[in-house]
Amino acid sequence: MIRFDNVHKRYEDGTHAVRGIDFEVAEGTTTVLVGPSGCGKTTTMKLVNRLEEPSEGTVYYDGTDVHDLEATELRREVGYVIQDVGLFDHMTVGENVATVPDLKGWDAERIDARVDELLTLVDLPPEEFRDRNPTELSGGQQQRVGVARALAADPDVLLMDEPFGALDPITREELQDEFLAIQDDIDTTILFVTHSIDEALKMGDHIAVMNQGQVVQYDTPKALLDRP
Ligand code: ADP
Ligand code: ADP
Repeated sequence: MIRFDNVHKRYEDGTHAVRGIDFEVAEGTTTVLVGPSGCGKTTTMKLVNRLEEPSEGTVYYDGTDVHDLEATELRREVGYVIQDVGLFDHMTVGENVATVPDLKGWDAERIDARVDELLTLVDLPPEEFRDRNPTELSGGQQQRVGVARALAADPDVLLMDEPFGALDPITREELQDEFLAIQDDIDTTILFVTHSIDEALKMGDHIAVMNQGQVVQYDTPKALLDRP
């Protein structure tokens, strides 16, 4: 579904953030990029939805060089969830979920039904949460809204950059468990970034351990744990 082929990224100031990575994220699976701060995880993510362009090598989406895809088209199929979800405070929770371009042109009834379905999926009962203001929600609840919004477009791929990173440990574990349960329903290919090895082991079908711009280990959680 996503393939990195000898990908490098040098920023304009000379920082060589990604140094020749090769790996694949198979359709319907979750791959976790794990490694210390500054090792190139976020840069790697941004190369998928073309928020950054590789300096060398190729990123493939479904067999096509992402460079040959229209960025807006690509981002419609590739959802993005980050640590700071960035909800609009002047809109209700429901309106926030409905901001994705895909829902434009839908009639009000269909949008409402879709929003309710998504809020239910992320365990925010719509009758209780749809008309609330995001500022009244806890961090965990806001993050759930962010996930619902990312799923609104029914993306084939979801990029998740430390999605639960700002939450307290208990809420974080709750959202991890919930998200694992949701995953079975949504059939989405996921690239997940974290600096927590525990989170990587829990969330990933495959784990790519990054260090200084390179993937230094790539394996299943079980194989990583069994390693001497
Ligand atoms: P991580 O997500 O693992 O923390 P990043 O991909 O954010 O790592 O950053 C990798 C390296 O690239 C770091 O040294 C960071 O400072 C640098 N970097 C990230 N973005 C830019 C940028 N826009 N310009 C220059 N250097 C950058
Ligand atoms: P994280 O470590 O959570 O991945 P960062 O704090 O490294 O995020 O980066 C936050 C934002 O700042 C990103 O958009 C990244 O591209 C940018 N950035 C990071 N390092 C640099 C840098 N050295 N120069 C310019 N921009 C940077």
